[in-house]
Amino acid sequence: MLRTKRIEPQTFPLAALAEWFREFYSGSPWGECQRCPRCSPQGDFGGAGRYADPDLERCLVCGAELEAYWSDLRAEEYFLDAANRPGFAGNVHHVGNELAGWTWGYLASTVGELAEHPASCVYIDVIGVLPAFRQYVLEVFDAGHNLARECGYESTVTRTRSDAKYVQEAMAAYGYTFLKPSSDGEREYWAYRL
Ligand SMILES: [Zn+2]
Repeated sequence: MLRTKRIEPQTFPLAALAEWFREFYSGSPWGECQRCPRCSPQGDFGGAGRYADPDLERCLVCGAELEAYWSDLRAEEYFLDAANRPGFAGNVHHVGNELAGWTWGYLASTVGELAEHPASCVYIDVIGVLPAFRQYVLEVFDAGHNLARECGYESTVTRTRSDAKYVQEAMAAYGYTFLKPSSDGEREYWAYRL
C-alpha cells in the first residue's frame, strides 16, 4: 500500500530523483541523455545542447565534452527551482520502506507560457513512479490531485512531449484534455478541472 507524505525540500531524496531522471528521460522520445555544458546554459532545461546519443563524446556544435543531461547537480537545480516557486506542493510516496515515487507542482502562472492562468491553477511539473512500482501510477495521480484540492487549487495543467503518445493516452483516460502546443515545437500542455 502506498504511503504518501508531503515533500519537505530539506529531506527530499535528490540522489534517487537524479537516477530516475537519467533512466526515464534518456530514452525515446525524450532523448535527454547528454548535454553540452556550453550550449545548454545552466538553469535551461530545454533542447539547447541536448543529445540523445549515449556514445557521442563531444558537442557537435562547439566541441566541448558532453556530460549526463541529468547530472546530480542538474537534477538538484531543477528540483530547487520548482520547490522555490510560489504555490509549490508535492508528495513523496513509499511502499513499505521503499521509495516509490513523487509528484509536485506549483502556481501555473509562474510558467512563462501559462502566465495568463489564474491563481487557482496548479502546474503539475513532475509525476514520477519508480519502475518497480508502476502498478501505483493511478494512486500517485490521485494523491497528487487530492493534494492540489487541499491546497485550494481548482484546475491543473501539465506538459508532455507531443510524441509521447502513451503519456497522452494515460492523461486522456484520466480526464485530461489537450490545451495548447508549447512554443518549443516539441511539447504540449494538457488541462484538467479538479
Ligand atoms: Zn556545445
